[in-house]
Amino acid sequence: MSLRVVFLGPPGAGKGTQARTLAHDTGAAHVATGDMLRDAIAAGTALGRQAKTYYDRGELVPDELVTGMLGERLQQGDTGKGFILDGFPRTLAQAEALERLLKDLGQDLDRVIFFDVPEAELLRRLAARRQVERRADDTDEAIKNRLRVYAAQTAPLLDYYRNHSLLVTVPGVGTIEAIGEAVRRALGR
Ligand code: AMP
Repeated sequence: MSLRVVFLGPPGAGKGTQARTLAHDTGAAHVATGDMLRDAIAAGTALGRQAKTYYDRGELVPDELVTGMLGERLQQGDTGKGFILDGFPRTLAQAEALERLLKDLGQDLDRVIFFDVPEAELLRRLAARRQVERRADDTDEAIKNRLRVYAAQTAPLLDYYRNHSLLVTVPGVGTIEAIGEAVRRALGR
C-alpha cells in the first residue's frame, strides 16, 4: 500500500525527524526540498547557484525552480511506495503545481499532516539545531525571516488543505516517539 503525504509546519516543527522515521518504516521516499537545495548549492549546479542568495537570506527560492526540481524528483524510481513531502509545498502556487503534477501522474494525496508547535518552542529548537548543523540559513536574521515567510506564505496552505478535506493536525510537542505515534494514527497505520 502506497503512502502519499505532505508534512506541513514551520521551520523547527520536527517534519524532517518524523519524515525520516516514517520513510524508514513504510518504504515511501523522503522528499525534502530543503535537503535537495542544500545538495544543489554544495555541488554548485546551475539550480544551486540560482537558489543560493534566496536560501542564505531565509527567503523562498522562486516557485518555478523548486516546482521543476520536485516534478523530476517525483518521477524517480524510489517513489514506488509513495512519498513524504517535507518542506513542499510552501506557497499556494506550489500547492496548485503539485495538484497538477499528481494529476499527470494519476496520483492523489492521502493526507496533509500539520505539525502544530508554539513559536517559543520553535525558536528554542532552531537555536539548538544551529549548534549541531551550522546551516548557512541559521543566522538570527535568517531564522526570523524564515518564521516570517512561513506565516505570510505557507500558513495559508492550512486553509487550502482544510478545504480539500486533507488536513490533519498533530501536536508537534512531546517525545519524538509520541509524535510519531500520533502521525501513524493520523494516517491510519
Ligand atoms: P528547509 O530545510 O525545509 O527549512 O528549507 C531551507 C530553505 O530552502 C528555505 O528557507 C528556502 O530558502 C529553501 N526551500 C526549501 N523548500 C522550499 C520550497 N518548497 N519553496 C521555496 N524555497 C524552499
